Order: sequence, then C-alpha cells, then structure tokens
Amino acid sequence: SPGTVIIGAGQGGYQVAASLREYGYQEPITIIGDEPQLPYQRPPLSKAYLLGDTTAERLLLRPQNYYEKHAIEVLTGSRVASVDRQASKVTLASGTAIAYDHLVFATGARNRKLPVPGADLDGVMYLRTLAEADAMKARFAAANTIVIAGAGFIGLELAAVASKFGKKVYVVEALARVMSRAVTPTMSEFFAGAHAAFGVELLLNARMQGIEGSNGHVSGVVLSDGRKVPADLVLVGIGIEPVAELAAEAGLTVANGISVNARLEASDPKISAIGDCASFPDRWTGQVIRLESVQNAVDQGRCVAHRLTGKPAEYCAVPWFWSDQRDLKLQMVGLTGGCDRTAIRGSIADRAFSVFCFKGDKLLGIESVNRAADHMFGRRLLAAGASVTPEEAADMSFDFKARLA
Ligand code: FAD
Repeated sequence: SPGTVIIGAGQGGYQVAASLREYGYQEPITIIGDEPQLPYQRPPLSKAYLLGDTTAERLLLRPQNYYEKHAIEVLTGSRVASVDRQASKVTLASGTAIAYDHLVFATGARNRKLPVPGADLDGVMYLRTLAEADAMKARFAAANTIVIAGAGFIGLELAAVASKFGKKVYVVEALARVMSRAVTPTMSEFFAGAHAAFGVELLLNARMQGIEGSNGHVSGVVLSDGRKVPADLVLVGIGIEPVAELAAEAGLTVANGISVNARLEASDPKISAIGDCASFPDRWTGQVIRLESVQNAVDQGRCVAHRLTGKPAEYCAVPWFWSDQRDLKLQMVGLTGGCDRTAIRGSIADRAFSVFCFKGDKLLGIESVNRAADHMFGRRLLAAGASVTPEEAADMSFDFKARLA
C-alpha cells in the first residue's frame, strides 16, 4: 500500500512520521518538504541561532540516519504542486506523482507582508526559515539602526537580540501594548519596561506608513503621524497566515486555515491537517481556532498518528508556549482570552513572577516569567481539569503539589 504522505517537513510533519513509527505503523511514510533541510526547529531562529549560540546542524529535529533507520522517506527541496483526491495522489512541482492512503497537510504558515510603499526595498526582511535567518544574520553586522515592525513575540525576540548586539533598535507597534493578542496588560507592561531597560525604543500606537530608501536600500521608515525613524534594516514580524491554497485548490474546506474536525480530519476523511495551517474546534473554549506553536504542531501530530494506528481520539491537549527575550523566559499555558481577574505569584520587581488568569473562579491559564515550576504546575493542573483560587495562587506558602496529589 502507498501508506501515509505528509506535506510539509516542519515541526508537525516530522512529528506525525515519528509518532506513526513509535506507535507501530508498518506502511510506507513519505514526508515532502520544499525547504532544502531535513525538519528543523524554528524557535531558535529568532533567539540562540541569530545570537550565534547554536549551529544549523543542532537545529535539526533528527539526524539523517534516524529517517533511514525508521524507514521514513524525506523528500527535501520538493514542493507539492497539486492534490488529486479522486486518484488519491499528490503531484510534485517536478511532475512526479506520489500515491497515498492517507494524506496529512502540515504546510505551516507564511509571514504577512508589510502593506506599505517601500516594503520591497533591499533591507526589509522577514523571518520564518533557516535561509531567512542566515540572510538576516549576514546583514546584522553592518547594520547600526534597526527598525522592527510589530511588537509580537517575534518582533520582541528580534529586538532582544539586536539590542544585545549593541544596535539602536526601534519597535513600531500599531496597538497600544506589546504582545497584546496573547498576554495580559500586566505582562505587556512588564515586557515594555524590560525592553526600555535593554535600550530598545518602543513606539506604541504607531503606524508605519512607508519605507524610504536610497539606491534601492532601506534608509528609514515614515510613521502615519509624520515622524521619521532612520533604519539600515527593517525586520517585519506582523503575524503569519496559514498556507492553505493547495488544500483549497483540492476542494477542501478552508477558513482561516484548513478546517478540521475534533479528530483533526479535513472535509475528506482520507486527509488530516495539523499545526499552523489547521483550524480546529478547541475543546477548552468551544471555538474554532488556529494556534501557532510547537506544542500545537507536536500534539496534533501525535493525535493524527494515534488515529492512523487504530486509536482515534479527539484532540484535547493543553496549549502552551514560550518566548525567550534576554534573561526573561516567558512561558504561557492555557488560553487566557476571556480573563476577567488575575492574581500575581512571586515578584515582578525580582523578574520572577506568574500571572494567574481567571474567568470568575475558573483558572484559564498562567503566564510565567522565570518561574518554570508555576508553568509546569499549570500544565498538569489544566490537563487534570483542576483549579486553584486566586488567593491560593498569590499565597507563596500554598503548596501546588498538594492540589495535584
Ligand atoms: P512549519 O514548521 O512551518 O512547517 C511547514 C513546512 O511545510 C515548511 O517547511 C513549508 O515550507 C512546507 N510547505 C508548505 N507548503 C508546502 C508544499 N506545497 N510542498 C512542500 N512543502 C510545503 N513556537 C513556540 O511554541 N515557541 C517559540 O518560541 C517559537 N518561536 C518561533 C520563532 C520563529 C522565528 C518562528 C518562525 C516560529 C516560532 N514558533 C515558536 C512557531 C513554531 O515554530 C511553529 O508553530 C511550528 O513550526 C509549526 O509547525 P508546522 O509543522 O505547522 O509548520
């Protein structure tokens, strides 16, 4: 039989293959990826890799011989150009056709492009792939002034690295606070203060209207209030969009990503979608959501592998995420969207604290800075469907372990 074919050799694509073998799958497995490398980790690209603290080889999720040993075929540098659901086969850009019993979309996401004049100038850069990280690294040395568009996770991680290299760094953010889509105002305020202390100039409520250049190269940005900020480089981190065109062309339902049910099946049961490209019904909020995290890609990969090896189950993992910015390790668990009450554990002044987020008495999630134990506790607590009260959360003498025993 033709076995399982996976489109996308990233975090999720790798995980499906690895978990299938781990759970005893005997049929062929083929991963098709359009990047030149074997599956690698993206998170360090904006952190240790850009800082020069790790190598491309150490980013690989597994070395070459792992795939040989587990009979997983990885076609790198290969783009799937079309999917024929009637014939159950995909066709590569090269023209080669590959048949499947089951097909998994793990096509990830691409960066949203900055929609302003001048965005095509040399020196305007994005970060998603290792190739883009290498290009960015190569340009860092000669840059003195760097403007970062977007104060989300990627933008702030880039600001943390660039300021550490001694660059003059501006971050331009259209909204009123940093990381506003993902964290509480308390956390935004803390990180804004931390970046100011790094020497980063945060421009909030600021819209980029255009990018100016000389000789085809970036020289500065213009804000909508007329202010001008000089720049040798403009690094853009204004969000991503799911890669779902191929799925849409194949006639699958697509709405903010490839639509899947609670078992991560697309509108054709021979097809699954996972990770950044998939939009799924969330067990915790009851809403259809799309998450952009390693945890989500990994756990959804496992969920699909379980189903394909005879143990179908609804996807129900607790979401978690992290972001490293200099000495600050931010870790988040749960989805804190509807939060109406918070409790602080630890000390903001000492840069080691957690914000426990509640809706009424219900714990929605925890945001931690340099308090890994709170984060790990939160993961176990939420998975168990248990809770603590805001008073317990804030009480340093309260022992969480007792609650889990
Ligand atoms: P990806 O890993 O993006 O893999 C998708 C792959 O599919 C890509 O290689 C793509 O080129 C390929 N592809 C697409 N279409 C085709 C096609 N037609 N044919 C062949 N191949 C195709 N997450 C965290 O949890 N914590 C972090 O700190 C963190 N930091 C990050 C920092 C950076 C700079 C970036 C870019 C991401 C970060 N993330 C972080 C997010 C995390 O890396 C992603 O959520 C995760 O990689 C998603 O996995 P995926 O398999 O869905 O997609």
